[in-house]
Amino acid sequence: MQRRCARPSCNESASTTLAYDYANRTVWLDHLADEAHPMTHDLCARHADTLSVPRGWILQDRRTSVTPLFSDSTRQLAS
Ligand SMILES: [Zn+2]
Repeated sequence: MQRRCARPSCNESASTTLAYDYANRTVWLDHLADEAHPMTHDLCARHADTLSVPRGWILQDRRTSVTPLFSDSTRQLAS
């Protein structure tokens, strides 16, 4: 089943899953998850690439097409 970007007025198909952790002020971008999850949002590539996070938050892009800036910490979180 095709999933759509969660942004209002955007009809692009979703390619990225966004997850966030309020306690750690961290936002993650991953390749689209196999199943929708209540704690995540699906975004199209355009909205994922232009995503900005609030001041003091960390954005971690774990999509493999992008070279990770913080590969060590990302790997620890993923394991
Ligand atoms: Zn979109």
